[in-house]
Amino acid sequence: MTLAQIKKFLEKKNLCPLKHLGQNFLIDENICLQIVSYLKTPIKEAVYEIGPGLGVLTEHLINQGRKITAFELDMGYCRHLANLFSRDQLTVVHGDVMNTLVEHPAPQGLIGNLPYNITTPLLLEIGKFSDLPKELVITIQKEVGDRLLACQNTKDYGATTVFLQHLFRITIKRTLTPDVFYPQPKVQSAILRLERKEPYPSQEQRSKFHHFVKIGFSQRRKKLRNTLNIPLDERPQHIDVKDWWQLFLKYRSSL
Ligand code: SAM
Repeated sequence: MTLAQIKKFLEKKNLCPLKHLGQNFLIDENICLQIVSYLKTPIKEAVYEIGPGLGVLTEHLINQGRKITAFELDMGYCRHLANLFSRDQLTVVHGDVMNTLVEHPAPQGLIGNLPYNITTPLLLEIGKFSDLPKELVITIQKEVGDRLLACQNTKDYGATTVFLQHLFRITIKRTLTPDVFYPQPKVQSAILRLERKEPYPSQEQRSKFHHFVKIGFSQRRKKLRNTLNIPLDERPQHIDVKDWWQLFLKYRSSL
């Protein structure tokens, strides 16, 4: 959809983009096509879309021959999407994705221009899904992307970095300037692809690993001897992702 089409649609439906729901719509068709092209999940496999909004990504996914399950909180857009596509092509799940996602079986692929206010909790939730999705293609705030991609010994390196980098190979596909959205957000965005590493830990192990790392990073200046009660005089940011996992396997019972 072009900017003019989006504005016309919103006016006709008496809708106004809601800031608290992170409603910044993509208005560049080429970028929509590019995002969809990053998704390598085979066409017949289940794909979930988070926050479809006006359906600018949904449309291209469906044109590829995919069947999509889309999670959207705003009823106005749920109705719009249900009118736009057949039930065969699209299942719309109305509600807060933080509650509705866990009620569904894990998909192979997940895509979305994510509402920025729930990006990190949502990714952590996905990381604890019963089965881990094989692939995520997400547009997020660049600053959050920097944290997911961070290396050890940097200020961006934290518990979320360690947890998600242990589960996924994370790459940045490109950055986006605010002018490709309507309304324009105040921040830069980034498109990331997360590919599941094999083999991956069980749901229970993932949950315990996240807890372990979170406690380790709860006080960055303190040595792990003091936070995790383990015989190690290192600070959490000095330990790489592989070593974090080894520490977890060795000392998980100490918590
Ligand atoms: N995919 C569209 C696009 O790229 O133009 C819209 C993306 S917009 C950044 C985020 C979308 O997520 C909005 O449609 C918003 O209503 C929806 N949303 C926000 N919070 C949500 C939540 N907790 N659960 C489900 N959807 C949510």
